[in-house]
Amino acid sequence: MADIIHLLPDNIANQIAAGEVIQRPASAVKELLENAVDAGATEVKLIIQDAGKQLVQVIDNGKGMSETDARMSFERHATSKIRNIDDLFHIRTMGFRGEALASIAAVAQVELKTKRADDETGTFIEIENSAVKLQEPVAAANGTSIAMKNLFFNVPARRNFLKSNAAETRHIIDEFMRVALSFPNIFFSLTNNGTQIFHLEKGSLKQRIVQVLGQHYNARLVTVQEKTDYLNIYGFVGKPDTAKKTRGDQYFFVNNRFIRSAYLNHAVMSAFKEMIPADSFPLYALFIDLDPAQVDINVHPTKQEIKFEDEKIVYAFVQAAVKHALGQFSITPTLEFDLDPTIQQLDAVNKPFTEDQQQAARSSDLAKNFSQKGQAHFINPTDKEELKHWKDFFEKDGTEQPAIGNRQSAIDTGQKEEKFESLLDQLKKQEGGGDYVPPAQHYTPFAKQLIDDNALLFQLHSTYIVAPTARGFMLIHQQLAHERILYERFAAATVGKSIPAQRSLFPVTLQLSASDAVLLQELAGDLNQLGYLIEPFGANAFVIQGTPADVSAGNEKLAIENLLEQFKHFSSDLKFSRREKLIRSLAWQQAIKPGTSLSLDEMRGLTTDLFKCAQPNVTASGNPTYIEFKKDYLEQLFKR
Ligand code: ADP
Ligand code: MG
Repeated sequence: MADIIHLLPDNIANQIAAGEVIQRPASAVKELLENAVDAGATEVKLIIQDAGKQLVQVIDNGKGMSETDARMSFERHATSKIRNIDDLFHIRTMGFRGEALASIAAVAQVELKTKRADDETGTFIEIENSAVKLQEPVAAANGTSIAMKNLFFNVPARRNFLKSNAAETRHIIDEFMRVALSFPNIFFSLTNNGTQIFHLEKGSLKQRIVQVLGQHYNARLVTVQEKTDYLNIYGFVGKPDTAKKTRGDQYFFVNNRFIRSAYLNHAVMSAFKEMIPADSFPLYALFIDLDPAQVDINVHPTKQEIKFEDEKIVYAFVQAAVKHALGQFSITPTLEFDLDPTIQQLDAVNKPFTEDQQQAARSSDLAKNFSQKGQAHFINPTDKEELKHWKDFFEKDGTEQPAIGNRQSAIDTGQKEEKFESLLDQLKKQEGGGDYVPPAQHYTPFAKQLIDDNALLFQLHSTYIVAPTARGFMLIHQQLAHERILYERFAAATVGKSIPAQRSLFPVTLQLSASDAVLLQELAGDLNQLGYLIEPFGANAFVIQGTPADVSAGNEKLAIENLLEQFKHFSSDLKFSRREKLIRSLAWQQAIKPGTSLSLDEMRGLTTDLFKCAQPNVTASGNPTYIEFKKDYLEQLFKR
């Protein structure tokens, strides 16, 4: 038998390795921006074309490269940033693996132009498929310009995996915003298909946040700033009234590196507890600086996750710092800092400070509180009187009221939702278990005829409608039934006669993050068909000119924000078209929720509409909308 193992040719091995680092245009954007920052640039320009598929170019005024370094920079594991393994634990630069440029060169056509300030001429290199095509001296400005063209031109399979231009542009904007937020002292611009969409002058972090995330945060940011000998936290959180229905403006940076951390997110959210509605998201941009030896950043470059030597302490600090900040602005209802006892017991928290440590600690606010009464984590309760007014922060601006039409108020009561979910689960389980009603008996085509127009309907637990039928009774799930009705109505509207919009007397403007703006732009056409008249209104802003009749005045903005949030939930689902996702999101969002009591007329309307549907028995995602209990089955249950 022939041997079957063979070595992959270099270029294929390279392309596979490159795919780990460069998965989409946005990954190149991140790497190139970080290189510019590492090079000490004070001005960085990003230019993209065709969502980065055609072109991603970064121009910086950093230190540039020598001719030899320029050539070397494309070799795998070529880096100027670490020399030995020890350096890894003191790393202060954004990059260090020496993989990015090599990876980009393996999967695209690259043009590099670079010059150091002290050199007469610069260097130009053209490289493609890891091979140098051209290298020559060139007149150039100080700094570096790298253009990545035709990403994946040589790996069509990967190219096919790229998403729509709107989706890829969104990823790019996300990466851009993260880097721009972490370096407010650097000028950044982003030009997309010839239009400049960001122009960020150097300034304070506060100015940068407002520039990047929107004017509406102006004067609505609370400073977070605590220094201890273990770590520093600084940054901003939004005042509670800026909390939005869509997640998004939430950023953690550790040693200036953007990270994702559900754990630390929880710390912030718990500090906001009771100050914002349960399903809303406050802004935060928090920078945690600590000894690089205390964190493991040697994780996968695209993962943005991080390991802390002691994450419980970091959690406690973050939570305390945010509470403290909110407290200083007299907007936190309670300042008792109940620390998890397991954290109290940690050495770092519990052990007495040395003289030196005490000295250092006294100079910083949070540390002072942390070491009072031998209790490491003890926040000084400030004057309670001040706290009475925290509610004012909600009441100032009527447009941002968390109150929504009574039809949706039930969403807020998470408990109810949970209960209902477990009930539904139970029903589903019983169904599957076979010791309840066999499914065939549940779903009755043409069920309409079974409900007498005069039958008395009643509502159970503000969740179900009980309807007698000629051969038993039917339990209709009000939310799921309504979801089916809306789904079919919306689906019909997108392909046929549109849902009429009601023009708003006072059109509301909507300020979004750049990525949400791209998303909304993308959905605008279909939304129009569905009765939402939304028009662009300057950078990342829109005017809501009209909504369908059933969106009550004052709720337009919330309806759109909710919709975007819901759409993003579906977004990872590749099975569905954009329109399908939109319709499902809207139907889900607008369906009457459990906990809403219905009048007899409303119940009648709902059941009638349900059985007019083409497929009344299930929701789009396959949940049953009603269950029928037949008499003979009931008899059986009673062993008759
Ligand atoms: P890493 O950033 O991990 O070192 P890269 O592949 O991103 O690896 O870059 C390789 C090297 O090329 C860097 O270490 C740096 O010396 C040099 N380099 C890359 N981009 C720039 C730039 N914009 N300006 C100056 N030097 C750069
Ligand atoms: Mg790099």
